[in-house]
Amino acid sequence: KKLGIALVGLGSYSEGQLAPGLVNAEHCYLAGIVTGTPAKEKEWMERYDIPKANVYNYENFDSIAENDAIDIVYVVLPNSMHAEFCIRAAKAGKHVICEKPMAVSVAECDAIIEACEHANVKLSVGYRMQSDPFTNEVKRLVKEKTFGDVTYVSSDASYISRGNPDQWRLNRALSGGGALLNMGVYAIQSNIYGTGTNPISVSAQEFSTRPDYFKETDETIMAQMKFPNGAVGQLCTSHNARGNRLYVSCTDGWIELNPCHSYGPLAGRTSDGNKISFPHKSQQMLQMDDFAQHIKTGSTNFAPGEMGKRDMIIVEAIYQSIREGGKTIPLDLGDMGIVR
Ligand code: NAD
Repeated sequence: KKLGIALVGLGSYSEGQLAPGLVNAEHCYLAGIVTGTPAKEKEWMERYDIPKANVYNYENFDSIAENDAIDIVYVVLPNSMHAEFCIRAAKAGKHVICEKPMAVSVAECDAIIEACEHANVKLSVGYRMQSDPFTNEVKRLVKEKTFGDVTYVSSDASYISRGNPDQWRLNRALSGGGALLNMGVYAIQSNIYGTGTNPISVSAQEFSTRPDYFKETDETIMAQMKFPNGAVGQLCTSHNARGNRLYVSCTDGWIELNPCHSYGPLAGRTSDGNKISFPHKSQQMLQMDDFAQHIKTGSTNFAPGEMGKRDMIIVEAIYQSIREGGKTIPLDLGDMGIVR
């Protein structure tokens, strides 16, 4: 049986990526919607053949508990709303996918994890890269030491924001932060899968060149990390640059993905002259199918809540370092959130 997913928040990501990704999924399908915009109800019901009984708004959402057609609730709202809706979904007895960043604080990540544990439901974060074959090829090459030991990793995850200055991503109360909360979590992730380990310390700097536009949220952040095997890493995340790349330097060669964090097709190459190449598939389809299989068969959860929480611990350490003039902040993460 395909598991029924209800998308909460029908913004650009739900409309452009998740709903189309679900059309071809093998283990799940778009069964329901939760929206605060009545005009979208009819449009989505028609386009995706969704019965009225599976349509909710933010007020009557909790009654989704009585709807057996919905197995998974996927929260695709502005970041500061993730915790509330994930916790409500767990209380309704539904498995939960929480978009990235998992929340706007470590404390909120803890609250989501606890609610899911208490309700005995599964939880994952919308980290589509963890189901992407290019990402997994980098993980394999690093793990098997194909090019020797990793000594240095560098990743960029950025785009230039020029649109509406009142958008929620630039509003701290809704976003929790700027580039770091938006694209930065991808750069943190690729530093981690580029070395195969969690960082043991981080230092960071913030740069601001368009303060009239980025009034409340960070524009550009650079961070440096140390890893337990001696490797060092750096990342740049920005709302005022183009960056979509991972470079992994090893003792006997290198691995590069460019583009690395976008929806694909991605591209990669290695120092031996080979290309990294896979047929293009919707990352979102792969991600949701992986989670549905995890629920059905107990297979690996490639993006567990613990991974989202770990990244938020690093985010908070980066902001702390910036507040403290670039001071190195030690991290004690062990293997937290590493899925092997
Ligand atoms: P969006 O602005 O396009 O959509 C946001 C949705 O939330 C809209 O349907 C809007 O109506 C609704 N909403 C409810 N209350 C709101 C409020 N107070 N202010 C603004 N909108 C409100 O945003 P999006 O790009 O779809 O992003 C939604 C979430 O998905 C974010 O957490 C974002 O980080 C995440 N996302 C993840 C990826 C990915 O690659 N995994 C890509 C894009 C977005």
